[in-house]
Amino acid sequence: MLEFRNVTASIGIIEILRDLNFRIEPAETLALIGRNGAGKTTLLRTIMGFTRVTGELLFDGKPLTPVAPPKRPGLGIGYSPEDRRLFSAFTVEENILLPADAARLGSAETKRRLDKVYDILPELKEMAGRPAGNVSGGQGKMVALARALMLGTKLVMLDEPFQGLAPALALRYADALRALRDSDRSITLIITESNPSLLRGFASRTLVIERGEVGEGSLDPERKSA
Ligand code: ATP
Repeated sequence: MLEFRNVTASIGIIEILRDLNFRIEPAETLALIGRNGAGKTTLLRTIMGFTRVTGELLFDGKPLTPVAPPKRPGLGIGYSPEDRRLFSAFTVEENILLPADAARLGSAETKRRLDKVYDILPELKEMAGRPAGNVSGGQGKMVALARALMLGTKLVMLDEPFQGLAPALALRYADALRALRDSDRSITLIITESNPSLLRGFASRTLVIERGEVGEGSLDPERKSA
């Protein structure tokens, strides 16, 4: 579903990711772990098209590099950045609908996807009309997840989703991810984390990123690579 062949990604003149060679298979739940500053966010931003890339990056077997960044969500890629980037004056529902509007999904498809999102995150339906600026930080993370799910029909990428969540909300967030997995087994999930223990029992595979290089790893504390 996603393949990196000798990919190097730079921001300006600074090379952040070096010589990446790996594949992500459909329906995997991938934990991307690494210390702060290791390059996790840059990897997700590279898939969204926000870095300068050399090498080959394939999505569904086709080169992704020629696809302009604003067109990539339309391929079925949903992205929830680490900072939620909600529009505080817009309602919760308007924030969730923004990517669907931008991708011109059409009203029937938008409603179908919104219903599915509310099935997974019913608490958002109850706060749909509230300005996003009036919800808590944890609830805002749920809104950002919902927004990513609107377009992420093939690939959903979540950047440090548990960061700053109170324990009860972190559990709720993990439940929502399980409900997503149950609702659609074919979606590929990439979740970055600096604390590997949060993804134990959830991820089907682990990649470790260290100083801009990616290798196979494990969330199991007994095994050295994580
Ligand atoms: P964190 O958990 O702190 O977000 P991360 O693993 O996501 O860490 P990145 O944000 O991808 O790491 O950063 C990787 C490296 O790239 C860091 O050394 C960072 O300083 C550098 N970097 C990130 N953005 C830029 C930028 N716009 N210009 C220059 N260097 C950058």
